[in-house]
Amino acid sequence: MNGKKVLVVGNARSGIGAAKLAYDHHADVCIYDSKPYEKWDEKAQAQIEALKASGIKYILGGEVKVEEYNLFITSPGISLEIELIQDALKAGVEVTGEFEFASTFCKAPIVAITGTNGKTTTTTLVGEIMKAYNENTFVVGNIGRAFSEEVGHIPADGIVVAEVSSFQLETAKTFHPKVSSLLNITPDHLNRHHTMENYCDCKYNIFKNQTADEYCVLNTRDTYYEEAKKLLSCKEIAFSLTEVPACGAYLKDGMLMENIKGEETVICNSDNLYIKGSHNIENALAATAMCRAFGVPVDIIKNVLTSFKGVEHRTEYVTNKGGVDFFNDSKATNTDAARAGLVGLSVLKKPIRLIAGGMDKQISFKEWIALFEGLVAKVYIIGETKAQIVKECAEQSYYNVATFETFEDAIKMAYAESHEGDCILLSPACASWDMFESYERRGEIFKEIVHNLEG
Ligand code: ADP
Repeated sequence: MNGKKVLVVGNARSGIGAAKLAYDHHADVCIYDSKPYEKWDEKAQAQIEALKASGIKYILGGEVKVEEYNLFITSPGISLEIELIQDALKAGVEVTGEFEFASTFCKAPIVAITGTNGKTTTTTLVGEIMKAYNENTFVVGNIGRAFSEEVGHIPADGIVVAEVSSFQLETAKTFHPKVSSLLNITPDHLNRHHTMENYCDCKYNIFKNQTADEYCVLNTRDTYYEEAKKLLSCKEIAFSLTEVPACGAYLKDGMLMENIKGEETVICNSDNLYIKGSHNIENALAATAMCRAFGVPVDIIKNVLTSFKGVEHRTEYVTNKGGVDFFNDSKATNTDAARAGLVGLSVLKKPIRLIAGGMDKQISFKEWIALFEGLVAKVYIIGETKAQIVKECAEQSYYNVATFETFEDAIKMAYAESHEGDCILLSPACASWDMFESYERRGEIFKEIVHNLEG
C-alpha cells in the first residue's frame, strides 16, 4: 500500500472502513461519491470533515481523473457497470471490492458463506457455534461490521465468519477462505447481474481460489450443485436433506447427522431445532458441515443448534392476538425466500393470510403463487408489484386476492377477516424500497402495527 494512490468508491460504512484501512497502511487515499457535499446530512458532513482532517481526501460529485490512481476499491453497493469503474478498467487501473481488499490483511482463518437465501441465518448460526468454540470469533461482511472496519484487530488465532453477497464477490481475484459454503442459487438481483450465468459466476468466486487443503460446503439439492462441484479445486463437503453424501451433513429419519471425519455421528433431532421449516434444517446442516470441517467438536455444535432461536425478520414469531398468530418474514425479498417461509410455516397446519408485494425486481411470481392453493387463505397485496401479482394469481386461477394503498390497511384487513387459529404472515416476495427505507424497517413497522391492533 505504501504510497499507492487509492480511490475508494462509495462514502458509506464499508467504503469508509476500506479508506481508513488503506490509509493506515500508508496509501494516499481519496473517497469518491457522486452525491455532492451539501446533500449529505449534518452527521455525515461532520464525519467527512473529520476524515479530511485526518488526511483522507474527498471528491464529492466532482470529476475523477482515473489515470491518477493505482487502485479503485468499490463498496458493495457500487455496480461495476457504472461509467467511472468502466473508465478505470479501460485505463488498466486495478479494481477490487471492499471485502476482498479487507481479506488481504486478515491473518485469521475465514469461514465464508454465500447463497441466494439463508446467508444471514446460517452465518449467525456458524458465528454462534464458533464463538462457543473460540471467543475470538468475528462475524463480518453483509451482517455485523464491515470486514475492513474489523480486520485491523483480528488476531491470527481468531476466527472470521463472513456473510458474503454476490456483489462482494464480483471482483474477487485472490479471496480464499479456509471453509466456504454456497448454500443455494436461485434467480435474484437479476436487475444488477442481468443473467443467471453472471450471477452464478459471482457466487462461484467464493471457492474459485480455494486450495487443496481448504473446504467448500455445497447443497446436493441445488440446481447448480453439479456445475459448482466440477469447478472445485479444494475438498468438497456436501449437505443434503434427502441423501447420505460420501462426506457431509445430512438428515436421516428426522435426525441431523454427519460423517465428515469418516464416522456417522448424530448431531440432534430436527424437532429440537427452534428454527422451523426444511430450509432451516438445510441451514443447520450447512452450519454443521462448515464447523465440523473446521474441526469444531460435535457437542458444541449440538448445544448451539438446539438453543438457537433464529434471526429477526426471518419467519420471526411476533405475537398472538385474538387467537391469530403473526409472523414477520420481511426478509423474504424474493420468491424463493417467500416460498421457503410459506413451506416453513405450513408445518403449523394453519390457514395463512399472506401480506405481500413491494418493489419490482422483474422476477416471475409463478412458482410462489403455485403454493397458495390449500395453504394461503387470502393474499393482501401492496406496492409496485400489485398489478403483476394479481395478474399472475389469475393466470393460476387463484382469486383470493385484494390490493391496498397502505401497509396498515392491508394488515388491518387481514386481521379483520381472520378467524381464530389463522396465522398472518408478512412475506412480501419483493424488495421494500418502493415504500420503506429497508426490509428491516418494513418488519419493524409491521410489528408496531400488529402490536397496536385492537382486539
Ligand atoms: P439471506 O441473508 O441470504 O437473505 P436469511 O437468512 O436472511 O437469508 O433469510 C432470508 C429469507 O430466506 C427468510 O425470510 C427465509 O424465509 C428464507 N430462507 C432462509 N433460509 C433459506 C434457505 N436455506 N433456502 C431458501 N430460503 C431460505
